[in-house]
Amino acid sequence: MVKKAKSPVTYAKMKGIVSYFAALIKEKKFGSTDLLQKCGNSHPFYRHVDSECFRRPEGSVCDKAGAAALCFTTSAEEQQRSLVSAADFDYLKVIGTGSFGKVLLARHKQNDKYYAVKVVKKHIILKKKVEGHIICERNVLLKTVNHPFLVRLHFSFQTRDRLYLVLDYAGGGELFYHLQRESVFTEPRARFYAAEMASALGYLHSLHIVYRDLKPENILLDSAGHVVLTDFGLCKEGIVGRATTKTFCGTPEYLAPEVLQQSEYDRTVDWWGLGAVLHEMLYGLPPFYSADRMVMLRNIMFQPLVLKAGVSKAGRDLLKRLLNRDRAKRLGAKHDVAELQHHSFFSSIQWDELVTKKITPPFVPSLSGPDDLTNVDPAFTNLPVPQSLGMCEEDGITFPGFSYMSQNVPSLSTQTNGY
Ligand code: ATP
Repeated sequence: MVKKAKSPVTYAKMKGIVSYFAALIKEKKFGSTDLLQKCGNSHPFYRHVDSECFRRPEGSVCDKAGAAALCFTTSAEEQQRSLVSAADFDYLKVIGTGSFGKVLLARHKQNDKYYAVKVVKKHIILKKKVEGHIICERNVLLKTVNHPFLVRLHFSFQTRDRLYLVLDYAGGGELFYHLQRESVFTEPRARFYAAEMASALGYLHSLHIVYRDLKPENILLDSAGHVVLTDFGLCKEGIVGRATTKTFCGTPEYLAPEVLQQSEYDRTVDWWGLGAVLHEMLYGLPPFYSADRMVMLRNIMFQPLVLKAGVSKAGRDLLKRLLNRDRAKRLGAKHDVAELQHHSFFSSIQWDELVTKKITPPFVPSLSGPDDLTNVDPAFTNLPVPQSLGMCEEDGITFPGFSYMSQNVPSLSTQTNGY
């Protein structure tokens, strides 16, 4: 089992691979048309509401004079103040860090509910020219608000210096935090997590969204032990059917060969990612792993997949099909998640029950309450909480269309993380 590094190291790894392939790869930036593209259909199983429906009620006014962030609902509308602002929360602990900011456990002052608040600094976003990532993340969060295994956005707002995404707090910690402690998961346990991930990915694909960034840090558990996929910053919207894209992104260990080679890729890149994660759950290491990253990258592109005994025939067959270098022949290439659902490895899964969370998770994180941080690495919780997080100065550069409030907000009554 490889000791997993946290996000900053992952980012360093990213930089390493980027420089290695610098001569080969010219990163394409997100196009504004991608970002603005609206999803055209709804998944039959879930209530999907177009993001237009999630605009904050018009004319609502913040009652905290001077403490509310400026909020834009759409570019066509007048500036309006958000009902929810940075000052409405107590920021308690850092629970994660990423390339562009921090994630904090926060308590809503009024109703005492706990949330994970992702905070990114505008000047970093602007300096790195990645406005598209954060707007894309917010757009995807709006579109996927009702899937059981995708993190739920409650509010987004902005202050002069920062952008805030208020999400459900997934108190069970990162899936791979648990995997590291146990080296490998039993097959039934790995099957359960893989099925929940497949369901979430299939749902994203039905909305023409490719997740692209399936990696340990982004797979969390909620307090009941269900999967919660987070971090939609690298999602690609508008990939319809077998349409392709070329943007280079993702985490080396889990990158599909076509992404490494800057060939065109499509939604099947997520099925490769799922294969890589399933491999790690069953064998304790990602496929093609080498401590030497360059060797690993070569392995991903050229080395035959060797699957040792110790995993069932069905499990090995699924891995072989998901980790097929030919994306046209990869499992999921034709009928997406339906192909996985019919594979013998998943024959014991009742998919209807899975998406309604009727299947009891194989492991329930032991938590004392909604603010329990047992499953969060102390390397994060020991970081200082910036004092200025609750300050809502006005003015400064605004990100039009960023702010959002879910429709259940007035009572703020729906805490969906199990408490
Ligand atoms: P990256 O550099 O991978 O793009 P990022 O800046 O987009 O990172 P996230 O990956 O969204 O940030 O979050 C960083 C970490 O914070 C995650 O790896 C996870 O450990 C923690 N985290 C994120 N969202 C939640 C949540 N809803 N509940 C609990 N922890 C979370």
